[in-house]
This record gives sequence, structure tokens and C-alpha cells, in this order.
Amino acid sequence: MIALTGVSRSYPGGVAALDSVSLEVRHGELVAIVGPSGSGKSTMLNIVGTLDRPSAGHVEIDGYDVSKLSDNQLSALRATTIGFVFQHFHLAAKVSALDNVADGLIYTGLPPAERRRRAGTALRRVGLGHRVDHEPHELSGGERQRVAIARAVAGDPPLLLADEPTGALDSVSGAGVMDLLHELNGSGTTIVIITHDREIAAGLPRQVSMRDGRIVSDSGSGSGAERRGAGDEGGGRYVREPVESEVA
Ligand code: ADP
Repeated sequence: MIALTGVSRSYPGGVAALDSVSLEVRHGELVAIVGPSGSGKSTMLNIVGTLDRPSAGHVEIDGYDVSKLSDNQLSALRATTIGFVFQHFHLAAKVSALDNVADGLIYTGLPPAERRRRAGTALRRVGLGHRVDHEPHELSGGERQRVAIARAVAGDPPLLLADEPTGALDSVSGAGVMDLLHELNGSGTTIVIITHDREIAAGLPRQVSMRDGRIVSDSGSGSGAERRGAGDEGGGRYVREPVESEVA
């Protein structure tokens, strides 16, 4: 699902936010990214989410070589493949939960009634079928994050990226959000979560630790059976051609 090879990202002034990072995440994984503030976690997530391009290295998402995609193709890839969840929810104020989720489906070109129908399904999936008409200010923090998650998964993306999804929540709401993310992963969504909460990270099947722009440990890197054989690396690998029309 994700293959980063020797990815670096530097900023003017010589800050190396990422320093030759290689990471492979397979379909169906649930991965925690941990590390101190400033260690490069968000930079890496933004590159995986194709919101930012690396200064050097190779990025492949769901089989696409990201460097070969135009901005329009990148938008298409994001719209069909990647859901985002942020610490502070990023919901539109004075807009119902249903429309917050439905508006996330605008790119699909579906008629509004169908977008709202799917939004209703997504909200029921996150346990908010009884809150569809509520606006964000009428919802608790945990409920707002559930709406944000419903919006992220309404289009059924295979990959969900979450940057501190429980960072603004009390521990009970945070646990509820984590249960939901586990459930989504159980139904097949690949999920990468940045968290500074050691307890949450410890509850996830794989932990990747970062420091100073590098991966300093990866609990999943040793799991042998599912890893690709050495012979599959490089040129022989199937790389999908970018198809802009996928989200025409
Ligand atoms: P984390 O998510 O682990 O807190 P970040 O990825 O946000 O870390 O940041 C990694 C490093 O890159 C930090 O030193 C940060 O100051 C720097 N950095 C991040 N974004 C920018 C930017 N837009 N311009 C300059 N430096 C940046």
C-alpha cells in the first residue's frame, strides 16, 4: 500500500525534516508512528498522503509512482485512495454532520441525494446515525472526530491516515475513536496513525519510531512471512499507470 524508499525532505535553511526514510506498509496493516515533536512524523504522513513531495527518494502509493503523477492525477489519487483524519477534526461550522460527510464526496460527481445517502451510511457506520442533523457545535469532541472519520471513509478509501486523532480528546472518547479505527482496519482499511500516546501505540500491531527525521525502530520490520522476497524488488515490480479518468 505504501512504499517509501530513501525519502528525504529538507526545508530552506537546511532543516532535514526527513532523512532518507524507507518504509513499507502492506495492505491491511494498522501502524502507529511515534516519536518526539519535530522528529518528522507529520512530514512523513504528508508525503504518504501526497500533500507534499519529497526532496529526494521514491514514493509509491497503492502501486502508483507518485513522482510520475501530475497535480490533477495526485488529487484523483487522494480522492479515491486516501482518507485523512486530523487532530482538530476540520469540520465545517454550522453545517450538519450529514452535509459535512456528504461534502467530502463532491469529487465523486454523484448527485447530491446519493452523496447524502452515502453520508448517512457512513455516519451509521461510526455509530452516529442518531446525530446526522447535528452541527459540530452540538456534538462532543469524540462525536466530532467520528464525523471526521465518517467523512474520511465515506468514499471507501483503502488507506486512512490519521494525525493525532485522539490528541484533542479525553481518554474515554479517545478510546472510542481507537475502537472505531480498529474496527475499520478489521474490515480491511490500511491505517497509519501518528500518536504521542504510548499506550495507544502499544495497542497497535506495528510501531514505527522516529527521531531526527529517521526511523529508529520498526516493530514490524522483522515479520518474515508476508514480506516480499528480495527477487521482487526493483524493476520487475508491477507499477500501475496513472489513470486520471478514474475520478472523472
Ligand atoms: P513531528 O510531526 O514529528 O512533530 P514535523 O514533521 O512536523 O515533526 O517536523 C519535522 C521537522 O521539520 C521539524 O524540525 C520542523 O520544525 C521542520 N519543519 C516542518 N515543516 C516545516 C516547514 N514548512 N518549514 C520549515 N521547517 C519545517
